[in-house]
Amino acid sequence: MSISIPSSGQRLRTCRACGKKFEYPVKGNDATRHHCEDCVSVPPGTRKILERLNSRLTQLERQIEGQSRRAQTSTPPPEA
Ligand SMILES: [Zn+2]
Repeated sequence: MSISIPSSGQRLRTCRACGKKFEYPVKGNDATRHHCEDCVSVPPGTRKILERLNSRLTQLERQIEGQSRRAQTSTPPPEA
């Protein structure tokens, strides 16, 4: 019995539309370089919206991350 080892060139990718992490390429899987198997079947127009929402989400996450980091490092604002 052999353990299946991911073939070379297989990489963990992040779906542009839903942000899911997926391996690509996987045999028998329809996922593309930028979209996971779930989103690849979504109509292009709808996927575009998903991508837009996902990029906003990523932006927001980054903003929150930056703010919480700033809150930790800087002195807290004086309370009234
Ligand atoms: Zn996806």
